Amino acid sequence: MTESVQHIDTLARRGIMFILSSPSGAGKTTISRMLLAADDQIKLSVSATTRPPRPGEEDGVHYHFVDDAAFDRMIEEDDFYEWAHVFNYRYGTPKGHIRSGLKDGQDVLFDIDWQGTQQLFQKDQQDVVRVFILPPSIAALQRRLENRATDSGDVIESRMDRARSEISHWDAYDYVVINDDVDECFAKVRDILAAERMKRQRQTGLIPFVRELMG
Ligand code: 5GP
Repeated sequence: MTESVQHIDTLARRGIMFILSSPSGAGKTTISRMLLAADDQIKLSVSATTRPPRPGEEDGVHYHFVDDAAFDRMIEEDDFYEWAHVFNYRYGTPKGHIRSGLKDGQDVLFDIDWQGTQQLFQKDQQDVVRVFILPPSIAALQRRLENRATDSGDVIESRMDRARSEISHWDAYDYVVINDDVDECFAKVRDILAAERMKRQRQTGLIPFVRELMG
């Protein structure tokens, strides 16, 4: 009994490109951090951005903070899986070692917008799982943005406009979770990840395992 459980735990599988998108203020960053802290099989894809760091953000941890010239160079050198203009800045997903990691069962978390999601999905439909987080109401979203002291009034206004436009892309995602309660939302996101890991097509170790079972 114990023997077979150990065997199942070590079955090989392909990693997942797990995308979390939401309008700014819907709680996606909190959910991402909770997921990274709770699950050591998934690591964050650290994007490059031309946006300046906010208080508490560290270079190389939350983003690679680069200037316009460095971002241009990364585009020229074909360093990005995808990149997009978001608000007044540019954001991009570096290729890094994502592809080779997937083969070894390494899951990667992407905190990117709908444009990046579309580009990643076009490149790799097999490995991408798209999750969209919605706020419980537009009033709750506005409150959350106002409670963030980091942005000035007109930035909040433009973020509300942007939020409405981001929400309009909800139907391009595989899963939609409403973040009314952060713990419940997190539990749902974990359930999605757990189920996706068990998809037959991802479990590359199943063929030899089942062959052995069938004798
Ligand atoms: P923020 O400036 O609040 O950190 O991020 C603004 C928006 O840019 C968020 O919706 C975030 O998901 C998105 N974003 C962050 N990194 C990337 C990226 O590499 N590519 C794309 N397309 N969007 C990104």
